[in-house]
Amino acid sequence: QYIHELEELDKKHFLHPTSPIQQQQQHGPSFIFTKGEGVMLEDIKGYKVIDGMSSLWNVNIGHGREEMGKVALEQMSKLAFSSCFATFSNEPAIKLAAKLADVAPGHLSATFFTSGGSESNDTAYKLARHYWILKGLPKKKKIITRTKSYHGVAMGATSATGLKPFRDFTNSLAPDFHYVENTSSEALRQMIELEGPDTIAAFVAEPVQGAGGVHIAPDNYFKEVRDICDEYNLLMITDEVITGFGRTGTYFGIEHYDVVPDMMCFAKGVTSGYAQLGGVMISERMHQDFAKHSTGTLLHGYTYSGHPMACSVALKNLEIIESENLIDRAKQMGAEMLAGFKALQKSQSIVGEVRALGLMGAIELVKDQDTNERFQEPVAPLVVAEAAKRGLVIRSVVFDGQDTLVMAPPLVINKEEINQMITILAETISAVEITYKK
Ligand code: PLP
Repeated sequence: QYIHELEELDKKHFLHPTSPIQQQQQHGPSFIFTKGEGVMLEDIKGYKVIDGMSSLWNVNIGHGREEMGKVALEQMSKLAFSSCFATFSNEPAIKLAAKLADVAPGHLSATFFTSGGSESNDTAYKLARHYWILKGLPKKKKIITRTKSYHGVAMGATSATGLKPFRDFTNSLAPDFHYVENTSSEALRQMIELEGPDTIAAFVAEPVQGAGGVHIAPDNYFKEVRDICDEYNLLMITDEVITGFGRTGTYFGIEHYDVVPDMMCFAKGVTSGYAQLGGVMISERMHQDFAKHSTGTLLHGYTYSGHPMACSVALKNLEIIESENLIDRAKQMGAEMLAGFKALQKSQSIVGEVRALGLMGAIELVKDQDTNERFQEPVAPLVVAEAAKRGLVIRSVVFDGQDTLVMAPPLVINKEEINQMITILAETISAVEITYKK
């Protein structure tokens, strides 16, 4: 009875983010989760699933960590909130900013805190543009971003998102965003030439495109991008909202490419979802330039920038990631996961290309493995629905004619649990294949 009541209240009062709204209104929530432990989630009916997405690519240290609650409680009991505006500060925010400077690539040295990835992206675009105003180059305002990219849902972040359906959701966007082909540095160069380098503030990219379908750039791509940004005097921004904090087997995704950006957005894994926090790191040079050229106030700030509880939770999260060697583990378990995908490719006739970087992976579904021909209607959503019934939560990507399964389990996953995921995938894909391979 209680469960039924909750379902009815959900239908009536809860407008879900990124939801199939008709289905939601008709059938209510598919899961009401009440508990989490490691890689497992349990719903209100006692049904258990493997959280193959780390919820939203973010629960890196896994569910149910009591020490995180303890840290939050301690901080909230002492000081739940105080402002970081102007010259006010607090201990956890200072310590976290220093810690991030320590672990971030190269010369990234100062952090502006936000409450999530979308705010981080909007912040990065504004700071980049403000930087050029201060440098006496106010015409440099365009942001170049990539097709298939996802940067969030705030107005700037939506406008920067290459995946068109997210932009088509609304009928007016922020101006001065331009979309360049995914992993071609030559296309970037051509666009800069076409638009004029003196009108461009920055280029932004995810080190591995997440929501767009886990697309991994060629080895030399980001090095070429870095060179191009330097050549044409634009800022390079990486969006590490998913790829940060161990997800790909390095602290930050861009480390695979041995490149240092000028600015870096982060969120999600910085707290593993135990609190709402994100931020933008800027280079030491930018930080010094801000101080040197700015005569007024940095007129950008969120109430919750530097939230003490969220920052204390982040510090504990980073301590866990490091003390439990979760970054190495992501690399090792990522290799296991990819090996599992390759086995599926052999055993299942509808599995096409597979790929993974650390614990961020994708399986493409095809009608014909030899020709790569796709099904008329994508089958990935069916696989996702079937997998959930068999105890595994993953995601499908059908943008741009893709028919892809993506997954990103918590970094604490062990070999047995990876095998369990692969077994469920094999059973699910077989079941779907029988229905559709005709
Ligand atoms: N940037 C990237 C690369 C993301 O994957 C996401 C969310 O998935 C965001 C930004 C937006 O973050 P948030 O949902 O915390 O606003």
